[in-house]
Amino acid sequence: MRESWQDRFADTPDVLRSARREQTIVPVLDFEIGGSEFITMAGPCSVETEAQLLATAHRVRRAGARILRGGAFKPRTSPYSFQGLGLAGLKLLARAREETGLAVVTEVMCETDVDMVAEYADILQIGSRNMENDSLIVAAARSGRPMLLKRGLVATVADLFRAAQIAIENGNPDVILCERGIRTFETAMRNTLDAASIALMKQVSHLPVIADPSHATGCRALVPAAARIGIAAGADGIIVEVHPDPDTAWSDGDQSLDFAEFDKMMVSLAPWIALREDEMGLRGEGHLEAAEVAG
Ligand code: PEP
Ligand code: MN
Repeated sequence: MRESWQDRFADTPDVLRSARREQTIVPVLDFEIGGSEFITMAGPCSVETEAQLLATAHRVRRAGARILRGGAFKPRTSPYSFQGLGLAGLKLLARAREETGLAVVTEVMCETDVDMVAEYADILQIGSRNMENDSLIVAAARSGRPMLLKRGLVATVADLFRAAQIAIENGNPDVILCERGIRTFETAMRNTLDAASIALMKQVSHLPVIADPSHATGCRALVPAAARIGIAAGADGIIVEVHPDPDTAWSDGDQSLDFAEFDKMMVSLAPWIALREDEMGLRGEGHLEAAEVAG
């Protein structure tokens, strides 16, 4: 690893790749995140109804997803927008896992909800708006569940690493980083996908990195291309919003794919995922570089 990266990220030593820790592999149910398999997480922005969630779960599983996403607690811009089904939503997620075998990732928004969410979820999502909520991160880390840490809207990579360092320091090694787009001067898209940050995080950190093409673009027509960019940059997986009828979704409909669009995207991503696997077989340049320096 470049000496300057070591300096730049010196306050988050446990996040950095080293000879002792080349790659974290997070076990979830019967598979792994951060290993050779590219992992797709998919599902609605919000859990809305039993029919909506179960139909989506079955369809995304058939298309190759491993993990069902869906918010039961929603951080919203307006206090009058749908805030999520809460416990009822968690129960629907658990039911979908039972029916499909998919693992469940869902957001926990406050410290006092951690035990309840951890009872139903396989992975706790810390949302962008909470990436700097240290007490929430500590509580989530102590639950022992793997954590998906989403990069804050105006957070640097170093800020995201600091959040991960707090989780690791509190005894949870199973941290997954997520690039979900950041705020820039560009307003044509909801956010700006910081693709190079994915490559950077993969080179510098041993933690798995996931791309979120849905929140990064805010626009369903751009989601497949942004997913492809994430894979090409070296992501270990993607998290994608899918809804049976996006135009009637209770949140984030504009960026949600319908079932046919999701199926089509998954088929179109297959050759890119195969390329990634070939490259991993040969060991990527970044990995070699880190091993040489450290060894
Ligand atoms: C979400 O995943 O639906 C979500 C709210 O994401 P973010 O925290 O990245 O905005
Ligand atoms: Mn969303």
